[in-house]
Amino acid sequence: MDKDKGKKVVTLAYGCQMSERDAETLTQITRQEGYTSSDDLLNADLVIINTCCVRESAENKILGKIGELKKLKEKNPNLKIAISGCMVQQPGALERLQKRAPHIDIWAGTHNLHDFSALLHQAEQGAKVAEVWQEPKMPLESTPQAEKGKLQANVNIMYGCNNFCSYCIVPHVRGRERSRKPEEIIQEITDLVSSGCREVTLLGQNVNSYGKEFSPVYDFADLLHDVDQIPNLLRIRFITSHPKDLSDKLIETVAGGNKLCEHFHLPIQSGSNFILERMNRKYTREYYLSRVNKIHEILPKASLTTDIIVGFPGESEIDFEQTLEIMNMIHYSHAFTFMYSKRSGTLAAEMEDQISLDVKKRRLQRLMSVQNVKSLAWREEMIGKTYEILVEGPSRTNPERLVGRTRGNELVVFKGPSEFVGSLVNIRITEAGTWTLVGNIEE
Ligand code: SAM
Ligand code: SF4
Repeated sequence: MDKDKGKKVVTLAYGCQMSERDAETLTQITRQEGYTSSDDLLNADLVIINTCCVRESAENKILGKIGELKKLKEKNPNLKIAISGCMVQQPGALERLQKRAPHIDIWAGTHNLHDFSALLHQAEQGAKVAEVWQEPKMPLESTPQAEKGKLQANVNIMYGCNNFCSYCIVPHVRGRERSRKPEEIIQEITDLVSSGCREVTLLGQNVNSYGKEFSPVYDFADLLHDVDQIPNLLRIRFITSHPKDLSDKLIETVAGGNKLCEHFHLPIQSGSNFILERMNRKYTREYYLSRVNKIHEILPKASLTTDIIVGFPGESEIDFEQTLEIMNMIHYSHAFTFMYSKRSGTLAAEMEDQISLDVKKRRLQRLMSVQNVKSLAWREEMIGKTYEILVEGPSRTNPERLVGRTRGNELVVFKGPSEFVGSLVNIRITEAGTWTLVGNIEE
């Protein structure tokens, strides 16, 4: 089939928002090559899987998908399949994956997205290609910017991570921290807003260390202040804040902004100082609590979310109880909870006192049941109050209704005209569930 005559690409993204953003970049590159996006695997000419390797469960899911695609390729030998991202980038992974999945046409590491057109051209000629650089060698601005014309956009402000938390594979597959220049970020967001975007999420593994390499000093709070000035943008979110780098200046900037959402995703990971030290998180529970108190002092209505790992090597019942205790102390609106997963190449994988799967499962269940009660209580508190919602579109489960989010990132479903999509409306909350809220437009 001719390249410009309707070739279809299906892109699947696994993992975090960075992975989603990378998948969007790959889709944009294929569009420049004459492909149109589709979600119909059966009729695809190209399937791209942008992978995640943060936990074994994600890897297993992806390996299952790669296996399924083999059957699809047997039915349609012209189908091209590309596997990109973190899983491919792990030391020694490429050879292992190539052996296991010889039906794959393109393998691309996290530092090779900019070159995807060239890899695609070769694959279209029938070659099997692989490109996995160990280091990022291209300028930061060498991949396409966020897709225009959408209400919401994820914007990378930095790449990589310097923190080396002992459980985490991310610094090993995404390289060291690199911050984009503020003027490039501001121009990208200004262009997005001209194309109809109203909400941006600024992405980094640790946004609080944005700009550490800049001279003269220009930090994340300065960037937020400047992005807040962009006309016609309605909301600014950011993710993720490492607690060790959360400055007073940043909290005060959020408080002083107009569009800056009062929501902090502040992963605590554990409530035990012993475990936090072994995790190399570089803060204590006391320091974490002092940061939370500071947020509440300056922004009493801010919402907080977190990530927690249970069953990290050496975690005793007492350590775990300390995590439960902190969950009860802090009012998180939501918590992402995980069982520790051994990642080859990380320090924690070498620790001897690994915790059994049974214990990890039991602890996760207990943690989740505590947090579910807390999340519901948080939402029930919202009943009878009015919140500003950015209307995103029809609800997926009930297209008769609209869905949008509060500044705190809570999902709200309500009845309203479709002309409201893309604007801010005031909604009075009438019902609360663990995950969503229901409300009415405030007259
Ligand atoms: N950079 C962010 C941060 O510092 O919080 C998040 C990065 S990671 C993609 C998202 C979450 O996955 C982490 O906060 C952590 O809770 C979890 N995670 C990372 N490695 C893990 C592992 N080996 N096992 C279980 N959970 C893990
Ligand atoms: Fe992983 Fe820690 Fe970096 Fe987050 S800060 S990406 S958890 S190493």
